[in-house]
Amino acid sequence: MAFQCYDEKEMNNLRKVIESQELWRGFGHGNFTGQFERDFGEWLGCKYVLAVCSGTCAEETALAALGLEVGDEVICPASAPIFVSFPVVGIGCIPIFADVDPRTLIISPEGIEARITERTRAIMVVHLWGMPAPMDEIMTIAEKNNLKVLEGCAQAFGPTHRGRKVGTIGDVACYSLQQSKHMSSGEGGVFATDDPEMYKRALLFANGGMPWYGYGLEAPTPQLVAGNRTRGHFAFGHNYRMSELQGAVCIAQLAKLPEFNNRRESLAQAIDEELKDAPGIEIDLAYPDTEPNYWIRPVRVPAPLGHYSEINYLEVEFQKMQRDRRTSLGVPLPDYVSYEPGTCPNAEAGAKQMRGIGTHHGREVEDARADARKLREEIEQAL
Ligand SMILES: *Cc1c(COP(=O)(O)O)cnc(C)c1O
Repeated sequence: MAFQCYDEKEMNNLRKVIESQELWRGFGHGNFTGQFERDFGEWLGCKYVLAVCSGTCAEETALAALGLEVGDEVICPASAPIFVSFPVVGIGCIPIFADVDPRTLIISPEGIEARITERTRAIMVVHLWGMPAPMDEIMTIAEKNNLKVLEGCAQAFGPTHRGRKVGTIGDVACYSLQQSKHMSSGEGGVFATDDPEMYKRALLFANGGMPWYGYGLEAPTPQLVAGNRTRGHFAFGHNYRMSELQGAVCIAQLAKLPEFNNRRESLAQAIDEELKDAPGIEIDLAYPDTEPNYWIRPVRVPAPLGHYSEINYLEVEFQKMQRDRRTSLGVPLPDYVSYEPGTCPNAEAGAKQMRGIGTHHGREVEDARADARKLREEIEQAL
């Protein structure tokens, strides 16, 4: 039988939720969702964790928690899922695409530096494929320019940069729990920070402005309006809450993460064995002193045999923003902002040289090996 990512452990927790008749997390606490947040914080080594309903919501929440204002610029990688840049637009800020390392498609320190203006407030780093970005260099740039750093860890559950877990290096980290990720509740997301004030702002933003703080943080008392009680909405906010059903699944999934990561490692090793001296295929991509934890195993092949389909500014929405010179929320774009082809040459050229082989923990090693062999044959024939 194929490997089961979900089994009795998730089922037992789900049964408890159903039996409790409480499927939402209640007024801030939640038996399962709250427990999952504490477990995740312990696993990551981070003080404040907020579980939300998707990785995209986690990123929007994180940007809001950074205190960004309309028209602020956020530097994003040109090569990354478009879900990385939509939250920037969603809070009224302007995504500025930075070029990447052509070998990895990961946002590069030089790419970031070239995009800094007076309006830049934050950098969204994405540890693409589960390979850590060069965080030391990026943090140095951020400190020099007084910028905040959001680590996008949707594809990176536990890899390290110079011995430190990614997600603990920047100001805030965001994770996705969508089906394809290292652990999953189908949909879901995680926000994590060590800063209590950021956690409070995040909770308000994701909880309709209601301060149901965890971690013993004190909430303000709702005011009366003309003698009437109010429920206590202290700020604008969405409802991005995670349900108890998701929390129940996440607790079981997090406990299995080491096993899942070992399986991913075995798949990646098998792929590497097949490709290690394959002509035309480069597998040595990770930065020195980093330990990847692959979401997908990327390899580099001669152009145009590669294909990576996630250059953000080539998506239709960004083309429209280019044409209209404003974001889809109507925020005007400064003259120097470009979503035209040619904006990030490394991202565009690198996309034609990138291939990936699936290392999902639910796959069998032999299937990943077969994919690697097929790729090797394809490249050999094309050379
Ligand atoms: C999956 C993913 C997202 C989006 O997460 P969702 O949970 O699908 O909203 C964002 N960024 C990266 C890098 C991802 O891989």
